Amino acid sequence: MKHLFGPVNSRRLGLSQGIDLLPPKTCNFNCIYCEINTAPQLSCERGEHVPTATIIAELDVLLADEARVRELDIFTITASGEPTLHTGIGAIIRHIKEKTDKPVAILTNGSQLHLKEVRQDLLAADIVIPSLDAARPESFRRVNRPAKCSADLETIIQGIADFSREFSGEIWLEILLVENINDTEDDIAALQAAIGRIKPTRVQLNTVARPPFESFAMPLTRKRMDEVKNEIEKGYNGPVDILAGSKNDDMSDSGKGRQDSQGVISPDMAADEIIEMLLRRPCTATDIAATLNLDPEQASDILQDMEKRGSLTVKIHGGKKYYRTLSGQKIENE
Ligand code: SF4
Repeated sequence: MKHLFGPVNSRRLGLSQGIDLLPPKTCNFNCIYCEINTAPQLSCERGEHVPTATIIAELDVLLADEARVRELDIFTITASGEPTLHTGIGAIIRHIKEKTDKPVAILTNGSQLHLKEVRQDLLAADIVIPSLDAARPESFRRVNRPAKCSADLETIIQGIADFSREFSGEIWLEILLVENINDTEDDIAALQAAIGRIKPTRVQLNTVARPPFESFAMPLTRKRMDEVKNEIEKGYNGPVDILAGSKNDDMSDSGKGRQDSQGVISPDMAADEIIEMLLRRPCTATDIAATLNLDPEQASDILQDMEKRGSLTVKIHGGKKYYRTLSGQKIENE
């Protein structure tokens, strides 16, 4: 598996070069809405799950291509899991910052920020996007299904708040709401209190936009998302964005994606890249065409061929056709 992917055209981050630090799906949570369609390898152990030198070597090939780097808006460190479980994350952020003037963003579930060494590692980033889906322990367990080894909710919230005080960059707190799981009035009131402690730069509300790991994880309606936004705005002065359904999803359904300096990619190369994309999230044909800079008809032909050969599966979600890798075996809730 390659560790660099994209770039993807993210509406909130711009043309974003993805860096994936972990084998799928190494995480200390098993969220019901997770877009990665494989069974989690639950772990709380920080380690060099993939050699840092391997990731830096891949990065150096990209960084040597000045024309490609110039086009990028940002480097985004994420993972097919929780990226702060990788002990090389700080070295990787600093390496990018030494070699380019591009900003670096981190997508994290926020659960490791109570650890001083993790906070230290992330200080060199420009934007940190921690998730906090629930501020009541019962809802937290239902939506995120943390591993037994994970920190408790109060420790996690305090860790994000501590990091927010120490960090000079921007904190975008992402809250993903699932119908009847973490969206009650009590849940929103508890989240408001947590936002008051964390004081993020902005709050980003999301819901289940793509096929989730558990089919019972349902999205909120747009009306309910607007109500939650209004509630949160009563106690918070910063911007509150609604991501899902507002075309602010991380991967665009239009626009500039990868600009391949070697020209048009062959169907075989495209199939390999499509599998790499689908290992991280389900995608529509339009997502794939935009990201790989393919003609939409060519992308559809390649996907149909892969579907016939059984290399991927199809799931209709929210009226859209999503392609996924073949499902892994699910585990019981922790
Ligand atoms: S959504 Fe993120 S934090 Fe949750 S299980 Fe998936 S990779 Fe882990």
